[in-house]
Amino acid sequence: MAEEKLSFQAEVAKLLDIVVHSLYSNKEIFLRELISNASDACDKLRYQALTDASLLQGEGEFKIRLVTDKEKRTLSIIDNGIGMSRAELVENLGTIAKSGTAAFIDSVKKDAKGDVSQIGQFGVGFYSAFMVADQVEVVTKKAGEEHGWIWRSDGKGEFTIAEAPDAKRGAEIRLHLRDGEDEFLDPYRLRNIVKTYSDHIALPVTLEEDGKEETINSASALWTRSKSEITPEQYQEFYHHVAHAFDEPWATLHYKAEGAIEYTSLLFIPKSKPFDLFNPERKQHVKLYVNRVFITDDAAELLPPYMRFLRGVVDSHDLPLNVSREMLQHNPILAKIRSGLVKKVLAEIKRKSEAEDGDFATFWESFGAVLKEGLYEDFERRTDILDLCRFRTTTGGDELVSLATYLGRMKEGQDAVYYITGDNLDRLKQSPQLEGFAAKGIEVLLLTDPIDEFWPTAIGTYQDKKLRSVAQGAADLSAVKSDEKAEDDKKPAADAAGLDALIAAAKLALGEAVKDVRGSDRLTESPVCLVADEGDMGIHLERLLRQHQQGQGEAPRILELNPRHALIRSLAEKAKADGAALSDQVWLLFDQARIMEGETPSDPQAFARRLSAALEKGL
Ligand code: ADP
Repeated sequence: MAEEKLSFQAEVAKLLDIVVHSLYSNKEIFLRELISNASDACDKLRYQALTDASLLQGEGEFKIRLVTDKEKRTLSIIDNGIGMSRAELVENLGTIAKSGTAAFIDSVKKDAKGDVSQIGQFGVGFYSAFMVADQVEVVTKKAGEEHGWIWRSDGKGEFTIAEAPDAKRGAEIRLHLRDGEDEFLDPYRLRNIVKTYSDHIALPVTLEEDGKEETINSASALWTRSKSEITPEQYQEFYHHVAHAFDEPWATLHYKAEGAIEYTSLLFIPKSKPFDLFNPERKQHVKLYVNRVFITDDAAELLPPYMRFLRGVVDSHDLPLNVSREMLQHNPILAKIRSGLVKKVLAEIKRKSEAEDGDFATFWESFGAVLKEGLYEDFERRTDILDLCRFRTTTGGDELVSLATYLGRMKEGQDAVYYITGDNLDRLKQSPQLEGFAAKGIEVLLLTDPIDEFWPTAIGTYQDKKLRSVAQGAADLSAVKSDEKAEDDKKPAADAAGLDALIAAAKLALGEAVKDVRGSDRLTESPVCLVADEGDMGIHLERLLRQHQQGQGEAPRILELNPRHALIRSLAEKAKADGAALSDQVWLLFDQARIMEGETPSDPQAFARRLSAALEKGL
């Protein structure tokens, strides 16, 4: 077949443009990315060969070779792994299936220096080759196939594919270096880069120099070595390899489980959020090995979704080598490993939460929202997880408050842990429902993660104290003592007969639009607010579901009136004489309460008409 010309998917072209023009100074990371891909390709073939040995065709030992040609100014990264078919070449090196590209492009654009160091994380590591090469060739033959292919591109919108009769199993990535990038021909420099970035991948990386081939990395699966032999730098380098990360991990957990079930795990908790943390798949990211042979990076059963922030490897001694993905489901050994890992990880997070220099806030800000998913998904570990949770509160300022701390400073007579949910911390602090709590000095948890809509009701209580939303059900704060000054400051309330008349008038005017109208204990400043009835769905949750097209419209709410507000007082006075005349005022109050909840008025035109009329009267 003759050479064929194809265009990159638009996203790839954009990405390449950024990569090529980036002024990023750590260009050498391209080598880490390409070696990482080569190592993955070998792992994949090793796994497939477990069931089909013919794929190996005699060539047993997997390795990655670096070969330079000083005259042609090329650097090749050659592996004898799985290789790519023609279709895979087009698919893998021409398009980006993952949702990551757009996110990557955005994040790089925001950064003036063009920090492309995280490129690997976004599943687009291959393209980093264009930082140092103005022409890239990929010569490849897929294991088990007859024909090889050569892919060529200068990274400017197009690539070509042609047959390559001489291609060997695996892939050769041949880089024609840009002017000024000759350092990547220098054996000393290459050695150095490999030592820094790829020393502990499990395969040998060799360098050919003057016809001699020499292994230049340690090529030991780092996790199999004993802790005492491993330096912090080596852990970090391995973390960069498995996590495609560039920073330091927040925590490193390396341990061997011995006894009924044996396995080794080397797990990392990163410091910052990966871009796909909230993808709906909620995939975990720890690789599974069996006796140092890579099995899969997609074993959903290895860790629960709420631990998807973990990176690293787990190497089992007890699973059979030819374990298939299907066998991994409902596998009792894997279930035991999972439960052991979860316990260990939670214990380490707890240890760091108590340590002076644990930097717990970093972890919590990045992954708290994910860990909280465990509160309603992992019944067994619920209490352990709850102990790790931290919250912003109405009285805590910037402090991250644990439930234990909250309990310790509850007011006399307070019998519940109060919380409010919403999506914006600053707006949430202004919620009218909080006023009565603030007046009594009662601390309220400010919950802003979507998951917060679900776990408090699932958990119900913390150490016998009910978890209660301040925007739901009745709020009886009379048992909580206020300080005397607050009592003195209290404004007079509307008389009972007036308030009853106003409530009756409001019910009549609003009809089906509300579930109930009542006087309120939770307001001090605002005239009105809306709350959800005890068994109903919270207002914020309902909105969240509606945004995701999952709701069934709005349920009617309870309108609460503040009997001490001047407006309510005078309306109550008027209601005694003629309640029916107050219809417009009642509707305005109701719509105002809706607006404070972030909703639109129930009938925007009617709202505008009533508002104009009221303003006109006032002039
Ligand atoms: P990622 O490795 O994160 O998936 P890349 O852009 O680096 O993203 O690579 C895209 C895909 O190309 C890989 O997922 C893999 O399927 C394929 N690929 C890259 N390098 C090789 C290689 N050396 N051998 C076989 N396949 C490869």
